[in-house]
Amino acid sequence: MQRSAADIDVVIIGSGFAGIGMAVKLRQMGHEDFVVWEREAEVGGTWLVNTYPGCACDVQSHLYSFSFEPKPDWSRTFSPQAEIRSYLDHCVDKYGLREHIRFNTELARAHYNDETGLWELHDGKGGFCTARVLVSGMGTLSRASIPDFPGLDQFDGKVFHSQQWDHDYALQGKRVAVIGTGASAVQLVPEIAPQLAGLDLYQRTPPWIMPKWDHPVPKWIQGLFRRLPASQNLYRKLLYWFLEFRATAFTLAPWILKLLQPQARRNIKRQVEDPVLRAKLTPDYVLGCKRILLSNNYYPALCRDNVNVITSGIARFTADGVIDQAGIERKVDAVILATGFAATEPLPPGVLTGRGGVDITTAWASTGPQAYKGTTLSGFPNLFLLAGPNTGLGHSSMVFMLESQIQYVMDALAKMDARQVHAVELQPVALEAFNARLQRKLAGTVWMKGGCQSWYLDRSGKNVTLWPYFTWQFRLATRRFDIENYACHALGASGNEDGLELKARAA
Ligand code: NAP
Repeated sequence: MQRSAADIDVVIIGSGFAGIGMAVKLRQMGHEDFVVWEREAEVGGTWLVNTYPGCACDVQSHLYSFSFEPKPDWSRTFSPQAEIRSYLDHCVDKYGLREHIRFNTELARAHYNDETGLWELHDGKGGFCTARVLVSGMGTLSRASIPDFPGLDQFDGKVFHSQQWDHDYALQGKRVAVIGTGASAVQLVPEIAPQLAGLDLYQRTPPWIMPKWDHPVPKWIQGLFRRLPASQNLYRKLLYWFLEFRATAFTLAPWILKLLQPQARRNIKRQVEDPVLRAKLTPDYVLGCKRILLSNNYYPALCRDNVNVITSGIARFTADGVIDQAGIERKVDAVILATGFAATEPLPPGVLTGRGGVDITTAWASTGPQAYKGTTLSGFPNLFLLAGPNTGLGHSSMVFMLESQIQYVMDALAKMDARQVHAVELQPVALEAFNARLQRKLAGTVWMKGGCQSWYLDRSGKNVTLWPYFTWQFRLATRRFDIENYACHALGASGNEDGLELKARAA
């Protein structure tokens, strides 16, 4: 390998599924010159920090796990948060990653130095290192979105976001307002409702909810998977293709989703007797436009006497309550913000600056977040974004997408190594062509045409989060690093980056 003067060859930010998956592959390829920066004291990413009651995955665990590390004894079809987190811990130990992880180390600023061709990384506590390659595993659903509700700062009671659950705060017997009815709320409301004196659920838009086929995995199945790994592999493949079939509806034929609406309506009717409540809970947009949620206990929880679904909107907060748009004040002891994440603004300004000191938020100012194959950007050499723009899914496992991206990065490293290339930098024309095609495809999807507002879209209404094709198409697109679409930089004799392109030799 052509050596640079970097302190470390590869720095990975984050130790969730993305960072851990990347680290495992680096070690498996004999690449030991890497570290993982993790802002928390433990690994797990989203599965470490989200600990709200009822937190679980809504993608089947046998698929929502690494292909290279099957777990035969998943306890349930859709495993709870703690089990997923301990699975990631297990991966860290099994693959010997712990010594590579710098805990309590948050990326404060990453800056690409044009002179040296290196990333300069600051942790905000005086820690600093340079890296040749920067891999972001920071995810898109990690920055809590806290709406600017009038008066919220004057509320004297307890306030926390679902992602920052305060387990020291006893909810028993309290009056609580939950704001939001997305995936997090649907999981936590049924868990907390029985212990509360009252729960006011502030719903802006009702989600479509389908039954969740969640059950304990029988011991004999776990035993079968342990003794006969091929059987688990087969099950995983069946799950994959079952879910992949659903992508047809999202991407090719949204009319199929309309056909499923009567089933979803029956799900409401079966569980909610009160016609007024039923009307409140019935969406008026096409199923799938927002994430389809899975739950068996959400509607029953809303039918409880101590739960009140409020649809008149929040006007403002007072010192001890919430006033809705109809002018009614409801007193509460605590407010739980289940208001989601800043998915379309994954990074604040000042964290990532590329060539010429251009901030990534400036690079995205006129287009919204975009990347080539969700992974690379022009002007940001040797930066790889895992779970980057337009890699999200409405129908299958993100782990599949992450493993695809990791393969792409690994092939990039191998090609750079083989060709004595110090840095690769995406050609702008590739970025533009890729995203023009992607946005054309997105225009026909239910996410754009289904008549809803969702976190998939940025402020301008552009979908910057979802992958609008089949996931196997993403796997094909990322199976090899197409170096011909990149400018390749060599190190100059002085050890500095040449700056100009070394003609990329086509693979
Ligand atoms: P979310 O789906 O974005 O839901 C946020 C909720 O807050 C929505 O109901 C939204 O209403 C409401 N809201 C936001 N701002 C508001 C405002 N100013 N006033 C009133 N209501 C407001 O967030 P989430 O539930 O945290 O889920 C986000 C994503 O995380 C999910 O879609 C999923 O991808 C992931 N997640 C996954 C799981 C899992 O099981 N794997 C669990 C939790 C989360 P509107 O609908 O009107 O915008």
